[in-house]
Amino acid sequence: MANQKLGTLAVHGGEDQVWSVPAVNTPIYQTTTYRFDSAADAAAYLDAPDGKWLYSRLENPTVIAAERKVALLEGTEQAALFASGMAAIHAALVAHLAAGDTLLVADTIYGQTTRLVRTILTRFGVKVVEVPLQRLAEAAAAAPAGTRALLFETPTNPTMRVVDVAAVAAACRARGILSMVDATFATPVNLRPATLGVDLVIHSATKYLNGHCDHLAGAVAGNKPLLAPVLEVRRTAGGTMDPAVAYDLIRGMKTLEVRIERQNATALRLAEALEHHPMVARVHYPFLRSHPDHDLARRQLGGGGGVLSLSVKGGFEPCCRVHDALRIVARASSLGGVESLASIPVISSHRNATDAELAAQGIDRGLLRVSVGLEDPGDLLADLTQALGRA
Ligand code: PLP
Repeated sequence: MANQKLGTLAVHGGEDQVWSVPAVNTPIYQTTTYRFDSAADAAAYLDAPDGKWLYSRLENPTVIAAERKVALLEGTEQAALFASGMAAIHAALVAHLAAGDTLLVADTIYGQTTRLVRTILTRFGVKVVEVPLQRLAEAAAAAPAGTRALLFETPTNPTMRVVDVAAVAAACRARGILSMVDATFATPVNLRPATLGVDLVIHSATKYLNGHCDHLAGAVAGNKPLLAPVLEVRRTAGGTMDPAVAYDLIRGMKTLEVRIERQNATALRLAEALEHHPMVARVHYPFLRSHPDHDLARRQLGGGGGVLSLSVKGGFEPCCRVHDALRIVARASSLGGVESLASIPVISSHRNATDAELAAQGIDRGLLRVSVGLEDPGDLLADLTQALGRA
């Protein structure tokens, strides 16, 4: 019959034929829920959920595949993925802190992280102590009783200061303080903090891990006992990753090493060349001899990373002229993609920082941050050089 109703066929027909094809790539399990064979099967899930499937806020195969890859790259037993980097940071903190605990947090850290700990965590009775970046290990050693965790970031944005990760982790361990690092800028290609003793490694996977500026994503990696409460927060609060995003994240991580090696090399080349430009007062890049953490960076990091910052002579107005004259480098915030991006911290990431905070972090009003992509390094140098000519 030409116009037969499709009915149940439309809902159920045909799909079981392709459920177990040995595809080269992990399929996107774009499903919120899973079938049980029987009531006994459903009840068994609740008795012992391990290895069984109920609902994608709790577990999804594509997300689990991506989590396993993150854990392998970081050298940890497990990883948990989130809908954004901030969701990951939030879950890691909420999982491990309770009212009355003290949190030590580096004074140089992503702005929203500062806002999260200052304005939200404190409302729930967590005492937050901000510590100068270069004094984290001493602060852990001298921490008051009740200090539960220490959160820092390395390398930092936008001046690429580098923390002695092993020293901070050891100081925390000696005092029973949980160490957490946001290693978004480093990536596991340049630094694997867990191998240096850090308990929880956090990423805005929006940046290099995914690498294509097309998804928000976050990750927390660590050993199973420390991940268990983080997963509990995610299950309950619901900041989990969508399976389609997990698929793209898996694909992004497959090229992570080649991207980072290229971005390390390009950023170093630009940093070395632009350091001598007459309109540049200073280039902040950890693999330059002029960087205050150069020796530590060379010892600790596999590469200097894909971000450099230029202090344009004359301050804010000339910096804006350079920014506006860029032709290949896009004027956009964020970092870690294949397209080079430039932003001015005092009107973007650090817009709300006080003058004292800017000074403490070595950020001047003429600073231009560049996230290096995969374009031809010579083209990028030519673009930045012509833009600096308009300063
Ligand atoms: N951590 C760092 C170092 C970041 O740069 C960012 C975002 O820029 C975040 C965390 C927050 O991540 P998301 O934007 O994925 O929530």
